[in-house]
Amino acid sequence: MADQRAPGIQDTITNKLALIDSLLPFCSCGLHQKISFVCKEVNCIKHQLQPYYCLDCMEKYHMHPQKNITTYFDEYEKKWETLFFDIMKAKEKLDEWKSRMNEVIDLVIKKNGRTPHIFLQQWGDFENLILIFLLEKEEKGRAKMENNFDQYVQTLIKIEELQNKFDRLDQIQHGINDQTLNLAFKQNLLDLELQDILSFRSAESIYKVMKFQLNNRLESLLGDIDCDGIQSFESFSRDIDRINGFLLVNIDKFDLHQAHLLRFDMLDYKMQFKLKLQASEMDPLKLRILHVFYRKQGFPNPQEYI
Ligand SMILES: [Zn+2]
Ligand SMILES: [Zn+2]
Repeated sequence: MADQRAPGIQDTITNKLALIDSLLPFCSCGLHQKISFVCKEVNCIKHQLQPYYCLDCMEKYHMHPQKNITTYFDEYEKKWETLFFDIMKAKEKLDEWKSRMNEVIDLVIKKNGRTPHIFLQQWGDFENLILIFLLEKEEKGRAKMENNFDQYVQTLIKIEELQNKFDRLDQIQHGINDQTLNLAFKQNLLDLELQDILSFRSAESIYKVMKFQLNNRLESLLGDIDCDGIQSFESFSRDIDRINGFLLVNIDKFDLHQAHLLRFDMLDYKMQFKLKLQASEMDPLKLRILHVFYRKQGFPNPQEYI
């Protein structure tokens, strides 16, 4: 309200202390006073003996700038909040990316086998960190609710350790997107064969891996020569025709074998991509009838003939 006096800092601290009164223990001095301060001065003679103290002890022993216990708690709680927010944001991005790229990731992980992989390692560490974080957060809440001061403080300061763990997960922290996926799994993606790629149900997954492989090969073939790679899902076929035309016109500038091999593979990918798209656009009943028809005709894979 406008006419009400704004509370002073001391009022606010007193109010806050009153709110957590039952959590705060009595000071070690024996004067039956609740602790109000925390000693953060490593050079203070009482630093080790009396990390938390009352108003009387402040005047007698702790001759240094004071840190109120409520401010101290607030600072740590803020760190918990910030890390919780950052972890959840990273998790959301990871989940979103995982749901979109599920098939590719599963196959890459399967193919990767037991080979050490920094991204997969960090991914596992991140999932562990989430579990630990949530358990500790719960423990912190419980200790506070049960007025267990020692347990509360012990858990509260664990945030530093948790933050360090999160800071080390640079691949997870910097945000997950298709680019980081490509970087993290570059060799695994390049090693996928056409039949692996065609095993994906989603046309988007097929496009992503095909584009990555072809653009990568095109880049190493081009060297200093300028030619845009495949640009988008919609322009996939047109881009391939454009690149193919460019390679043909400039064929004498390239390693012949490599250039032709890339051209043939591009045309093959283009055709397979088109077939896959057509198949995915057909309604399931029609597809089922075609399956039966082609099976009767002795064709093992109807998609090749659609
Ligand atoms: Zn005291
Ligand atoms: Zn002190």
